[in-house]
Amino acid sequence: MPCTVIVGGFFGDEGKGKIAAYLALKDKPDTCVRGGNGPNAGHTVLHDGVQYSLRLIPSGFVNPGTRLLIGPGVPVDQIVLMDELRKTGSEHRIEIDNQCPIVEPRHKEQESRSDHLSKKVGSTKSGVGACNAERALRMARLAQSVPSLKAYVGDTVGEVQKALSEKKRVIVEGTQGTFLSLYHGTYPYVTSKDTTASAACADVGVGPTQVDEVIVIFKAYVTRVGEGPLEGQLEREEVARRGWTEFGTVTGRERRAAPFDFKLAKRAVQLNGATQIALTKLDVLFPSTKGAQRLEDLDKQATNFISEIEKQTGVPVTLVGTGPNEKDLIDLRTTVRSPRLRATPIARQR
Ligand code: GDP
Repeated sequence: MPCTVIVGGFFGDEGKGKIAAYLALKDKPDTCVRGGNGPNAGHTVLHDGVQYSLRLIPSGFVNPGTRLLIGPGVPVDQIVLMDELRKTGSEHRIEIDNQCPIVEPRHKEQESRSDHLSKKVGSTKSGVGACNAERALRMARLAQSVPSLKAYVGDTVGEVQKALSEKKRVIVEGTQGTFLSLYHGTYPYVTSKDTTASAACADVGVGPTQVDEVIVIFKAYVTRVGEGPLEGQLEREEVARRGWTEFGTVTGRERRAAPFDFKLAKRAVQLNGATQIALTKLDVLFPSTKGAQRLEDLDKQATNFISEIEKQTGVPVTLVGTGPNEKDLIDLRTTVRSPRLRATPIARQR
């Protein structure tokens, strides 16, 4: 803090929604601003017993005192936006940027008609790729020209910059995952934009030197929905046996799964310039950790796993997810310092 960027470290679905929501409640940021791609991303937030599947609204909505912004890099689908504003009751504190491109029905139709996207790439067919392509040709419609959005549109970049200049806390939320990046991922099985922390900053109009912390989120195992390579992919039966079966938030498709990939994690830390790691679903890998809120409550197997991640990536694990609820989390940020402040690895704390 004051400016923290959150991004996914693998192929999406790492639990960004939960981590963003936790930080919004715990650190009480002035502003949560959504970067990343459009409504082809889905984030799950469990708050006060209600499960929200969000595709556009920042997951930080759980804090009623936080201002919610959607940066100009993010394609906006009006139907999805309105639906989420209603569900989250956040109409009064949202602003979307003048320059957000609009996802139109024809974009979805174009994608549905494309065998390349449907069958080869495994696209969610939300119209986001077609919208980005049209924007690259300077033909997309922008939010500023849509009368029905008038009440919600403004200069979000100016808002973010004002908050930063007043030393207020800002959280930048990325989407998808590092290896779904158009530049750094497993092309062509990728999304239609870069998805790294640098891109999330560009999406919302924050310069590289304005960022204090970059939190890359890894799940305790790797999942991938749609097509594309997945190193170490397990048989479906084995995934079920391990209790790792998951379904996509946007499409409902079953995710493929593999054990934690240290090589990918190291690369993700580099690509994002990560200063911290949030590790989610430790309880799925080690059921003994379920609901743990203190490092002392983890057994040796679990702490060894965390230490190994720190050793191989050189970045401290500062947040550990131990269950789907908000309170199922170990927050080590007060004891573990970011590398800039000299890290104290987990192994040495015990
Ligand atoms: P996102 O797109 O990165 O937010 O990921 P998903 O939408 O796939 O959400 C991940 C799912 O895992 C959601 O249902 C969360 O409630 C859940 N979840 C997040 N963190 C944890 C955790 O530490 N343990 C468990 N058991 N579930 C978690």
